[in-house]
Amino acid sequence: MAEPRKPWAGSTRRETLPRGWARLRRQVIRRDGGQCTTKYSDGRRCELPGTDVDHVIPHSLGGSDDMDNLALLCPFHHRAKSSSEGGTAAALTRVSVHRKPSTHPALDD
Ligand SMILES: [Zn+2]
Repeated sequence: MAEPRKPWAGSTRRETLPRGWARLRRQVIRRDGGQCTTKYSDGRRCELPGTDVDHVIPHSLGGSDDMDNLALLCPFHHRAKSSSEGGTAAALTRVSVHRKPSTHPALDD
């Protein structure tokens, strides 16, 4: 198995990683089954492999480094979430990142 990407490599965030982060990160990956934890509005879970451990509530909003504030995300959803942070409570709405427009024909059944 290849060496996992270091969490700080390529990150544009300036958050200070907590002590024991590498171990914490491994625990989150194991807990979340190595899969992105983003849920779509219809309840399905993202099927991409999770590689990025994300603070559900970012440090800037008072989030902690506890396991229950950490979630595994795929690079796509991590980027989507990170880019929406800095707005309001983006962290609290991330379950609906992929909300489909209600006019989508596939939803007309
Ligand atoms: Zn994902």
